[in-house]
Amino acid sequence: MKIYNTLTRKKEEFIPIEENKVKMYVCGPTVYGLIHIGNARPYVIFDTIRRYMEYKGYEVTYVQNFTDVDDKIIKRANDEGVTTDVITERYIKEALADAEGLNVKPATFHPRATCEMDHIIEMIKTLIEKGHAYEKNGSVYYDTRSFPEYGKLSGKKLDDLIAGASNRVDFDEDKKSPADFVLWKPKKEGEPYWDSPWSQGRPGWHIECSVMAKQYLGDTIDIHAGGEDLIFPHHENEIAQSEAANDKPFARYWLHNGFINVDNEKMSKSKGNFFTLRDIVAEVPYDVVRFFILGGHYRSPINFSRELMEAAGNGLQRIKNSIRDIKFHIENSSGDNMTENETALIKDSARFKTAFEAAMDDDFNTADAIAAIFDFVRFANSNLKPDSTKAFGEALLSGIEELCDILGIKTDNESGEDADKDKIESMIAERTAAKKMRDFGKADEIRAKLLEMGVVIEDTRQGTRWSYKK
Ligand code: AMP
Ligand code: ZN
Repeated sequence: MKIYNTLTRKKEEFIPIEENKVKMYVCGPTVYGLIHIGNARPYVIFDTIRRYMEYKGYEVTYVQNFTDVDDKIIKRANDEGVTTDVITERYIKEALADAEGLNVKPATFHPRATCEMDHIIEMIKTLIEKGHAYEKNGSVYYDTRSFPEYGKLSGKKLDDLIAGASNRVDFDEDKKSPADFVLWKPKKEGEPYWDSPWSQGRPGWHIECSVMAKQYLGDTIDIHAGGEDLIFPHHENEIAQSEAANDKPFARYWLHNGFINVDNEKMSKSKGNFFTLRDIVAEVPYDVVRFFILGGHYRSPINFSRELMEAAGNGLQRIKNSIRDIKFHIENSSGDNMTENETALIKDSARFKTAFEAAMDDDFNTADAIAAIFDFVRFANSNLKPDSTKAFGEALLSGIEELCDILGIKTDNESGEDADKDKIESMIAERTAAKKMRDFGKADEIRAKLLEMGVVIEDTRQGTRWSYKK
């Protein structure tokens, strides 16, 4: 399995620290509002990578934090006249509901910064003791010049950063160097705070993740992931903190997803092209959003538009239709042993799984993996005949479903258009009964009604089958 590592800027063979185990940390959202469509990308991508690793036999410990102390949270609480806890509780719940909707497996641990204060203070103390941090007027700063490897992830040079930051008007006089960053800051009036040896205050953002990764996964982890905007400064600073405090390499593989743009522009509230995930799922089901995200390579930027979403919906429906037809066949056919020809066909179909794995082994190319599923679906559609055995249908079904499941694609037709599946089936039963009673007028009426609902029916030897109009 090859993974593109931002740290080395190369695709590298994945070798875990401990055999068959993966320790993975994914930076989670700051919980001051509903997650937006961009945030959905790291959710889906890193969940898919986790699923693939589990499929390959690794035991994955997956940690995704919630940043629940931050200026934006405080602002939102003040705007609403409530405490920050009310805001964070609300949006953690909503983020978890969105993750569930996207079929993202719950993390092994979902730590929150505010629950880790003792450990955060502990790590800051260690950094001060080791000469990597200093206190000034109740604030603690990381001394970037004390860490010679600073810049190794982002490729930035400390001298350039210092020169660039010196010109800024908001330069903080308490810092020894303009590239230094805050580990602890004193509270301002009305802000939540914690006691510390330096001041009543709160931690900086970067230190939270260093501490939570150490706490739940250890000093050295296999994979650290997040959106590409986090490479600098967030992940660069996490490396500086963790490696200076623990004297060990922090993460072996750094993975970053590209951004989602909207109508080819960066999403922003001021441009009016900002969408929460809830805005989107009011119109298209969650599983289409997931399928859409998996349609592009995770490192490339992807564009979000109504047309592309519609195309993703159609693609997903093609897979679901095929699965529904195979299930219909299984329910209405017999034959527990495949014919010789069917056995040969199933043997041949192994190439779809091989192609799927080859795509995923090449830095998680989900787009090509989906192409392999489409090939499998086409193969099933053209080889499953009315007189095929039940066993053949079952083998096709389990082959396709296995691959869909690795990508977290739900195939059970429960969402969207098929919410009214029960109604359709009861109408079909009513029509069958009418035909039996030779009431063809009524049977035709029901057929017309179904057509109005976008459902076409076909009477076969095994009964009536239905599908949505293509
Ligand atoms: P935030 O709450 O802004 O810290 O973001 C949470 C996660 O979503 C981080 O991993 C970000 O890198 C990622 N992210 C934010 N905006 C986008 C976007 N437009 N496209 C893809 N990922 C994003
Ligand atoms: Zn982080």
